Amino acid sequence: MKKEFGAIYGESVTTFSLWSPTVNEAFVNLYSTGDYWKKDLIKSLPMKSEEDGVWSLEVEENLAGVYYTYTVVINGKSIEACDPYAKAVGVNGQRAMVIDLASTNPEGWSQDKNPHAGDRITDAVVYELHVRDFSIDESGNIPDKGRYTAFCHTGTKTDKGNPTGIDYIKDLGVTHVQLMPIYDYGSVDERDDTDSQYNWGYDPVNYNVPEGSYSSNPYDGAVRVREAKEMIKALHDAGLSVVMDVVYNHVYSGDDFCFNKLTSGYFSRINSKGVYSNGSECGNDTASERPMVRKFIVDSVCYWADEYHIDGFRFDLVGLLDVDTINEIVSEVHKNHPDVIFYGEGWTMSTEVTKKNVTLATQEAAGLTPGFGYFNDNMRDGLKGSVFEKDEIGWATGAKKMEKQMANSFMAKEPWSCNPSQIVQYTSCHDNNTLIDRIAISRPDVDRKTLIKMNNLCAAFYMLAAGMPLMQAGEEMLRSKVKEDGSFESNSYKSSDAVNAIKWSNVDKEEYRRNIEYYKKLIAFRKKHGLLRLESGEEVSKNVKPLKNLPKNVLAFHFENKDGEVVIDDAKEIYIAFNPNATSVNISLPEEEDSLFVPPISAEILVNS
Ligand code: CA
Repeated sequence: MKKEFGAIYGESVTTFSLWSPTVNEAFVNLYSTGDYWKKDLIKSLPMKSEEDGVWSLEVEENLAGVYYTYTVVINGKSIEACDPYAKAVGVNGQRAMVIDLASTNPEGWSQDKNPHAGDRITDAVVYELHVRDFSIDESGNIPDKGRYTAFCHTGTKTDKGNPTGIDYIKDLGVTHVQLMPIYDYGSVDERDDTDSQYNWGYDPVNYNVPEGSYSSNPYDGAVRVREAKEMIKALHDAGLSVVMDVVYNHVYSGDDFCFNKLTSGYFSRINSKGVYSNGSECGNDTASERPMVRKFIVDSVCYWADEYHIDGFRFDLVGLLDVDTINEIVSEVHKNHPDVIFYGEGWTMSTEVTKKNVTLATQEAAGLTPGFGYFNDNMRDGLKGSVFEKDEIGWATGAKKMEKQMANSFMAKEPWSCNPSQIVQYTSCHDNNTLIDRIAISRPDVDRKTLIKMNNLCAAFYMLAAGMPLMQAGEEMLRSKVKEDGSFESNSYKSSDAVNAIKWSNVDKEEYRRNIEYYKKLIAFRKKHGLLRLESGEEVSKNVKPLKNLPKNVLAFHFENKDGEVVIDDAKEIYIAFNPNATSVNISLPEEEDSLFVPPISAEILVNS
C-alpha cells in the first residue's frame, strides 16, 4: 500500500486518511486548540470508508493550525485518539495539528544538506548527545538552555574564554552528532515547569513529531517543528551531520498509544498468554512484522530524512524489529538520500512475534541486513569489562590473555560480522557508567593519572579500529555522573541536570583540556588516514596485519597501502602499537627490503602521557 496517511495539508483542502480496519465508523474532530482538557470542539465530521480498512475525508477549508483527533466506533463503543501519522501536535501530543510544513522551514532550508554527503559510514565519527545535557549547565553561557535552539548560537564561551556549545563540538572534529530521542515522548509533562523534569526520552508517544519540552512553546504545534529544523540546520552549518535516535521497538504505553487505540492493538505484539510481549522490558514490543506496522515505520523514517534532513538513524533495541522492515527502511531512504547511515542495538531479546518465519535484526542476522550496522559489545566490554559486571576489568584496564580477542575486535572481525561498515566501535554511551567512572569503579587501586591513561587507551583503540567509532558526549572531557551521595550513577535516564549535564566549566581546567586535545588528535588522525577507515572485511584482511611476537598484552598493527590503492590515504604504511601494561616495552618493527622507519605521526599522538 503506497498511500500517504495523516492530514495532508493544502491551502484550500486538507485530506485526512486513517487506516482502521476493525471499526464501524470513523470521524475527524476539529478543535481550536491542542489543549486536550478544553472542550473547544469546532465540529466532528464523518469519514468515508474506502477499501482495505482505509477511512478518508476531504475538508475544503484552509485548516493550517487547526487541531484534530480521530474518533472510531467499534461495537458501539467510541474511542478518541491522536493521529498516529500526526506531523504536528499540541501540548503533550494528545491532539494532532494540521500543518503547512513549508511555513516552518528556516531560511536557507532548501539549500540545506548533509555536510558529509558522499562519505561512507566508516568515515563517520559519531558523538552521542542529549539535547538538554548539551546546554543546560550555566557555565556554558549558551542561550536557550535546554532547547533545540541552543544549537543555533555560535561564539559561546566559558567565563575563561574557552569555546562551548556548537563551536566546541565542531572544534573536536567529530562528523556526526547523534541526538538522543527528539521525537515526542511521554515521560516529561510539557505543561509543567520543564526545568524540574528530566528524561532521556525512550518512551515514544508521537513518532513523527519533535518533543515539545525542548521547544520554546509546546502548546503551538508549529513551534517545535520549526525549532527542531533550526537546530538541524545549525548543526549542518557547523559541518556536523545529524543522526537521530529512533525507538520504534516499543511505545510509552501499549494501551494508550494512538495507533493501538484506533486499530484494536494491531501495533504491538501480544504473546501466547494474551498480554503484551515484553522483550523491550518497557511494557510492550512493536509488531514490525505486520505489514501496516512495517509501512508505518518505513514511512516515519523516510519522513524524518525528507522533511527534517536527518542524515542517520540509530535504532534502539533493533533486535526486536524484523530484518525485512530494516531492509525496506534502508532501501526506501537510500532512494532519495544515499548517504544516510543506519545502525542499532542488535541484542538478542526474548520477544514473541506474531507470525512464523520472522527473522529479527540481531547481530547474528547482520549478514541479512548488509546496509545496517550494529553496536559492538565485544569492543565495548573487552576494553574495560562487561557493563553487567561492574568490578570486571578489561584489556585496557589490566585483564590478561585478551590479545587475540582484542586484535579481532580492532580489525572488525567479530563472530557475527567482519564488515567494518556494519560494526559500531565504542566503549561508552548513555547507558551504564561513563567511561572514566566505569574504570574508577573497577580499579579503585590506581591513581587518577593512571585512570586517565586507561581511559585514553580505550579511546585510542576504538577510535583507530576498523568500523565506525561512536562516543558518548563528554567522554573526551572525562565526563562523570556523580550522585548526591558521591557514588557513580549508572542509569541516569531520569536523574537531575546536576548528574547529566555537560559541565562546560571543566574545559577551563588543565587536566580536562589536555584530554580534549588528546581526543582531538585521535579524531584528526583517523580522518587523515583512509587506511583506518576501510569499508570491507576483504580490504582489512588485505591491508591490516597484527604484528607477531610482541610482549604480553601488547597489540600492534601494520597497515599497508599496497600499490597506493587506498586512494584516500597518502601514507604508504602505518604502524600502531598499544601497550596496556604499567611499564613501557620495546617492540621491534619487522625488517623489510628497503626498511626505513621514519618516526610516524602516530608515535606522537599515541604516547598517552
Ligand atoms: Ca512530549
